[in-house]
Amino acid sequence: MRPKKRLSQVFLIAPAVARLIAEAVPLKGKRVLEVGAGRGILTRELAERAASVTAVEIDEDLISRLERALQTYKRAEIVQGDALEMPFNGYDAVYGNLPYHLSSQILFKFLDSDSPLAIFMLQKEFAERLSAKPDSKNYSRLSVMTQAAAGVERIALVPADCFEPIPRVDSAVVKLVCRKKKILDASLVTALFQHKNQTVRNALLHSERALGLPKARLAEFAASLDKRDRKVRSLALEDFAELSKAYSSFAR
Ligand code: SAM
Repeated sequence: MRPKKRLSQVFLIAPAVARLIAEAVPLKGKRVLEVGAGRGILTRELAERAASVTAVEIDEDLISRLERALQTYKRAEIVQGDALEMPFNGYDAVYGNLPYHLSSQILFKFLDSDSPLAIFMLQKEFAERLSAKPDSKNYSRLSVMTQAAAGVERIALVPADCFEPIPRVDSAVVKLVCRKKKILDASLVTALFQHKNQTVRNALLHSERALGLPKARLAEFAASLDKRDRKVRSLALEDFAELSKAYSSFAR
């Protein structure tokens, strides 16, 4: 069966990498969700170690192959369906060599769940954005919104030839550990990052449409901020939290 591009089917073929992912944290006694089980290379490693594995795969054509690969693992349950439609709550850890076109959606679904930990294989560039720090090239809305909810650690770089078919990009495995959420206004963060290299003041003045407020009101808000002359790209997470709080009082 040929891999399906529309489902981002890029299968891991390096057993050592699957093992490294499964060994990234101790899994004894843990309930694990795996998103996009594919042919089961990672599922088997997880089932060796965890108390239970719920492996979700959307592609019906892969299910019988997965069932064969996992028939000796009583602790693995295969669920055919769309991971975006399934609850991520109630697991000790969420794993996945993610379908790359759904990386953001799956990431935010995990961050909104009550599961405390995730280990994801992602496109290297996407992974770099998750952990990027202020004033770096990759610092973005994604960095801020992710770090507001979780600590991000890169565990490994995985070269493209560890997959079949060989993708055009390298990958990275990241560990996400949820922490007490910083309350951010997602629309404000998004609007500001559309003008990443501008000062907060100018970015706000250019956000009439994004924020749905007239320029005069945005100017008034900007004038009230002691960070108005800082470049958006230099703001730390705490700065975004502070701006979000001020904005929520102002826009009320
Ligand atoms: N885990 C396998 C591996 O490491 O070889 C497969 C990884 S492959 C990058 C992503 C897998 O996610 C594919 O098997 C694809 O069919 C599946 N997939 C794509 N969209 C999905 C969705 N919405 N829900 C569940 N699985 C999905």
